This record gives sequence, structure tokens and C-alpha cells, in this order.
Amino acid sequence: MDIVANLNKVKHEIPDHVQLVAVSKTKPADMVQALYEAGHLDFGENRVQDLIGKYEALPKEIRWHLIGHLQTNKVKYIARFVHLVHGVDSMKLLAAIDKEGRKNNRKINCLLQMNISKEETKFGFSEDELMQMLHSEDFNSMSFANIQGVMGMATFTDDSETVRKEFQNLKRIFDELKKGHFESKTDFSIVSMGMSADFKVAIEEGSNMIRVGSSIFGPRILQK
Ligand SMILES: *Cc1c(COP(=O)(O)O)cnc(C)c1O
Repeated sequence: MDIVANLNKVKHEIPDHVQLVAVSKTKPADMVQALYEAGHLDFGENRVQDLIGKYEALPKEIRWHLIGHLQTNKVKYIARFVHLVHGVDSMKLLAAIDKEGRKNNRKINCLLQMNISKEETKFGFSEDELMQMLHSEDFNSMSFANIQGVMGMATFTDDSETVRKEFQNLKRIFDELKKGHFESKTDFSIVSMGMSADFKVAIEEGSNMIRVGSSIFGPRILQK
């Protein structure tokens, strides 16, 4: 399989304003190296351990995205290098990110993960939880957790209308946040939505960052 050709195919299918995060989870570092040599810099992993391993092994110019669920006690391992944390889903986690950012004297970029799907198992804030947090003192006293936008995952289904509605909902939440809370924050600009199966719909509905794994790297063996 020619993963460079796959990468270029996806790139040709998306407009210039959409950033592509190549999701390399479960795949070996030499595959990442091959795409890096072809000029790609943004890669996503969903486990802290794998993220650290690949960070250590690969060129430091690579921008590492943590796309999976992050446990509060693991923030310290990635704080010095992570480029963007996509899955921030609690004030507790944001506070940990802020604290580790302060220790490293480095702003840590993050996205607020919103629960837009019907699936019980998906992580993310409800709108009520989010509003509550935005008005809390803890939230407003942070200075190292740098919120750049929102992230969400649609329901795993063949029904593209359901998926489309969920993406529309996430875009609406982003627009409302931008207007109501982050209007003067110019880097609050990211809508991370869309994966291999649904990135075209996501882009039609306003995504400007997609996270694509299997369409580039091929199918994954199931993770535990
Ligand atoms: C695995 C994963 C992806 C990529 O999924 P593909 O279907 O392989 O493109 C995107 N986002 C998250 C959060 C993931 O865990």
C-alpha cells in the first residue's frame, strides 16, 4: 500500500483552508517517517504512551495531536511537546493542562470536545456543562490552557443525514462560542470534525480540521 499516494489523494479532495491530521495510531513510526519525508507535519495519536514513543523516535518538527481521551494524571508526560489536545472534556482536565503548561512555561493548545453523538460511550461536554464551566471562576483564571476551538465525533452510522445534523450542531456551538465568549480571541478558530468515513460531510458543514486514519494508513487491527 502506498501511504504517500493515499495522503495525497485525501489532500486533493479537501480545500486549502482545511487542515489534515494524519491519524497514525497503532501504526509503526516508519510509516509516519515516510509521510514526514513527503512533507506532512501533522499527526494524531490516541494514547499517551504511543504519542510519547513516536515523539521520541521521530523528527522534532512534527506537530503531535492527541486525539483520544486524556487522563488528568497523564498530562504531565506530554505537556512539553504536544501541539494540540483535541479531547478536553472536563474542567478538571483543563485545570491539569493549565498547571502543566505553567510548569513548562508553555501555552498548551486545546479543543473542547462536545458530545454531539447519540452514543452513550462518546466523551465530551454537553452544552449545559460547557456553559457552566465557561462562567466558573476556575475557567476564567487560567492562562496556560489555550482553547482554540471545538472537536466532536459523529455517531458511527451509515445514515449520513444523522451525521450531517450532528456536524451542523457542532458548527453552531462553535459559532455561538465564538460570538459569546471568544470574539476577540483570534486563534479560537478550529472546528475539528470528520474522519475517514465522514470528512466530506464534515467539511460541507464547516469543518476546518479533519482527522483521517484508515484512508491513509489502511485498516487498523482493533485496539483493546
Ligand atoms: C481513530 C480516530 C480517528 C481516525 O479514524 P479513521 O476512521 O481511521 O479515519 C479520528 N478521530 C479520532 C478521535 C479517532 O480516535
